[in-house]
Order: sequence, then structure tokens, then C-alpha cells
Amino acid sequence: MEVYKTLAEIPQDELFTGGHGGCRGCGAALAVRQAMKALGPRTIINIPASCMATIGGSGLTTAWMVPFYHSLFECAPAVASGIRAALDIQGIKDVNVVSWAGDAGTADIGFQALTGAAERQENIIHVCYDNETYMNTGGQAGSVTPYQAVTPDTPTGKPTPRKDMLAIMAAHRPAYLATASVAYPLDLIQKFQKAKAIQGFRYIHILAPCFRGWGIREDQTVQLARMAVECGLWQLYEEVDGRRRVTVIPERRIPVREYLKLQGRFKNIDEATVAALQAEADRRFREVQS
Ligand code: SF4
Repeated sequence: MEVYKTLAEIPQDELFTGGHGGCRGCGAALAVRQAMKALGPRTIINIPASCMATIGGSGLTTAWMVPFYHSLFECAPAVASGIRAALDIQGIKDVNVVSWAGDAGTADIGFQALTGAAERQENIIHVCYDNETYMNTGGQAGSVTPYQAVTPDTPTGKPTPRKDMLAIMAAHRPAYLATASVAYPLDLIQKFQKAKAIQGFRYIHILAPCFRGWGIREDQTVQLARMAVECGLWQLYEEVDGRRRVTVIPERRIPVREYLKLQGRFKNIDEATVAALQAEADRRFREVQS
């Protein structure tokens, strides 16, 4: 399987174009722009309720250069399964069918359809673009919101840890599983190239910061996505048939405190919370990198 070796090899064509409806510095828009470089024009995208559902446009205007279907919040992987079945019955095999959901449409409201599609080993790619909050409804906390992050409905900090969606999805034994980050575009694009070449259920989870929910400046999206990897709270790896391979080892390790202090949602955390999140980052780093 051929994958791009350098950023210079990546096609200049844009299948998710400028002029979309996302905020400036939107990590979600960046993620989809990068992924489409690998997926290419023979792709059908299905998106449930989320910022992404509106960013791409509606009515007579759209930033998408491929067919795009908007499904209900809870059922993107089920709808994608149906699209796949409809293509199969027509003998059309060369189209990537992608359900592209936020963390709510993946880990919470959409989880029932996701686990069903994964268990059935549907021949689709499910992407979670993860901004760690419910941004299309005002930034409320969800199950992957980090411990002690302040959101409109957790004004003193989320009292519970982030749900480990990667462990949950790995337990389904998908044909391909990967994490990605908008700060590492070549790694992200290579993972979509690999996923595209594999049959069966594929799951890619992208950390895609949202400046509004995180309390950062709009020009800090990529910086924070990179710092998440450098501090160990986000790891970049892939699993094929359950065998894990780390794809990025950060050039430097930074303390979690450096990552947290730039984010308004963590402005009131105490030393005990910093220590707890540092311990979490160290544990994840050991688990994945070992
Ligand atoms: S609110 Fe956040 S996720 Fe939604 S469009 Fe704006 S930057 Fe992107």
C-alpha cells in the first residue's frame, strides 16, 4: 500500500473547500480537510448533528466536493451501513463510506449505532472528531470531556474522568483503529490512506481542539493539539488486527501543567488535579509507548 512520505506529496486539490461555515481556527474543519486528501473523490460522507453538520453548508451552498448526507444525531454508523449495503447491491465497491461524527455522536448519543456497526464489522470508516465538548449545543460536557474541565453545565469542573473510547473500540476488534491529531497532518493523512485500503470496520479518533470550548485563542488550535501529544494526554498510534504500532514519538515531553495552563476551561484547577492529570498522562504514555 502506498502512503505519502512527505507533506509535499499530498494533493493540492481540496475536497472540503474554503468558505465553509466553521469558526476561524476550527479543529474540526482542519481535520476533515486533511482527511479528504487521503479519502479522495470516491467518498460518501454521512454526518450526524454536530458542528460539522453545519460547517459544510446547507441548502444550496456547500464546502463539500463529495456527496454529503446529514443524518440524525444517534444513527450515523447505521446510516453509513445502509449506504454501504446500497452500494454493494449495485456492485459499487470503490467508494469509501464514512460516518463522521463528533465526540457526542460517537461516545454518547451515537454510541448504540456505533457499537452495533462495529460488532457487525460493517465495511465503513467511522471517524470521531473529538473537541471534548458538545460544541453545537453550547459547549456542554460529555463523556469524553476531561476531568475538572469547566463547561456550562460543569461550572466547578467535570467531576468524572474522560471515558476511554479507544479501549472500548479496541474491544470490538476493528479491522483498523487509529488515533490522530490535526497537529500532525502527515500522520493523519497516512492513517486515512491505510484505512481506505482495508476492508471491514475501521475507526479513527482525531483530537480536534475547539477554541471556544477550550478557552484558547483561535490561532492556538494546532499548538494545543500538539501539546496534548507532547504531554502524553493524547497518544498517536494505530492498531491492525489488534497489533499496536506507535506512529509518533514526540520530540519533547512537556509537563501536563504547560498544556493545561493555556486553557481557560482549566483556569481554576488545583494542584491535586494537575497531579492527577499528570499521573493519567504518564500512565497512558507508558501503556501506549511500551
Ligand atoms: S464552535 Fe468549535 S467546533 Fe464548532 S465550528 Fe466553532 S471552532 Fe469549530
